[in-house]
Amino acid sequence: MAVAVIGGGPAGLMAAEVLLAGGAEVDLYDTMPSVGRKFLLAGKGGLNITHAEPAEKFLSRYGARQRQIAPLLAVFGAEQLRAWVHGLGIETFVGTSQRVFPKEMKAAPLLRAWLHRLRMAGARIHVRHRWTGWAADGGLRFATPQGERTVHAECTVLALGGGSWARLGSDGAWVPLLTARGVPVVPLAPSNCGFEVPWSEHFRARYAGHPLKAITASFTDANGNVHKRSGEFIVTEHGIEGGLVYALSAPLRDTIAAQGSVTLQLDLAPGRDLARVTAEAAHPRGSRSLSSHLQSRLGIKGAKAGLLREALSAAEMHDPQRVAAAIKALPLRLTAARPLDEAISSAGGVAFEALDEHLMLQAMPGVFCAGEMLDWEAPTGGYLLTACFASGRVAGSGALARLKPRTLISPAE
Ligand SMILES: Cc1cc2nc3c(=O)[nH]c(=O)nc-3n(C[C@H](O)[C@H](O)[C@H](O)COP(=O)(O)OP(=O)(O)OC[C@H]3O[C@@H](n4cnc5c(N)ncnc54)[C@H](O)[C@@H]3O)c2cc1C
Repeated sequence: MAVAVIGGGPAGLMAAEVLLAGGAEVDLYDTMPSVGRKFLLAGKGGLNITHAEPAEKFLSRYGARQRQIAPLLAVFGAEQLRAWVHGLGIETFVGTSQRVFPKEMKAAPLLRAWLHRLRMAGARIHVRHRWTGWAADGGLRFATPQGERTVHAECTVLALGGGSWARLGSDGAWVPLLTARGVPVVPLAPSNCGFEVPWSEHFRARYAGHPLKAITASFTDANGNVHKRSGEFIVTEHGIEGGLVYALSAPLRDTIAAQGSVTLQLDLAPGRDLARVTAEAAHPRGSRSLSSHLQSRLGIKGAKAGLLREALSAAEMHDPQRVAAAIKALPLRLTAARPLDEAISSAGGVAFEALDEHLMLQAMPGVFCAGEMLDWEAPTGGYLLTACFASGRVAGSGALARLKPRTLISPAE
């Protein structure tokens, strides 16, 4: 009997690679007509595959799950991942803020080389196979274009992804299949996601799609901790999204869940203190309009100027003290995270308490889980893919260790 790997994203393909290298027969199933679709989408953004910061800082990105992720990264961390990419003939470089990318900034050449290597190693890839659960005899049930198929495998690696961008294959439909088997699953939630802001019609029509650059945002979470971050984001139809927002998304989401909404304080002129901003706002403007005055003295223009006008009345706009106070601490109320399907990644998933150190389900011996379907989250920066690869590696090794020695193909065979 072969090993079944279900899910052909980075985690599943990595599990398959380890199994094949150890001599196992591997059947890999995916619901889509081809594997690695989300990985290819990540490539559209340049494929930030990992990060070159020191290991301790790297690990801190996994927040409350550092303890669970640490042993995975110890097996296959950022350096091993880079070496592995190089082994596929793909060069990498360290970009700004230490993010690591393939030189071509694309996923397709890497995926192509990887799939070729997996096929050469004997991987049997079955696309358009949607796993629908377990049959009464323990077989794996698949819906295929030819009808239902039941497969028996000695070990199974589930690498079914999270619940975002469902059209690429990962739709979270596995959650009830596992909970029905007594596996604790933390509900999937959006991570690295946008948020809703009740814009006025005027602001929405005027500024949706506009960037807000050089901003510092801060807020106090439900536990009284202050979060602060500088960067940029984009005004959307529904609210805000982009790097700065994604970086704060986990505590923002959790604070909204606890309190119903959260107010971000935006500093629209982070390089200058309140006294300086007040002095600039109060500087005589002669015949210049207020907006060109604020633009030339304080760089407040575009969506920043729009936000200011949303926050202040016409009369307040002529009071330099009020204007300066709003520029330095503009309140922006976020009412909800945008839906999971739009998010870059998912929080929640199979609880680590349900797994042993090889990522095998304690309730279902022989069934391993890997990738984004596990209950961890991390910001963007290559941390997502790194942990997916690492957990795929650990789950694959765990499955391999269970097979030995019966099922393995010895070189003499
Ligand atoms: C727009 C975007 C950009 C991103 N950019 C980056 C980036 O630059 N760096 C980074 O680190 N991360 C990035 N990510 C996140 C990263 O792509 C994911 O975290 C990663 O792909 C998850 O890997 P996985 O193998 O766990 O799951 P997935 O890649 O989601 O793969 C899961 C596979 O399982 C299959 N599947 C699901 N259910 C079933 C079923 N019932 N039966 C059979 N098959 C099934 C799916 O079809 C899919 O192929 C990005 C994500 C998005 C959406």
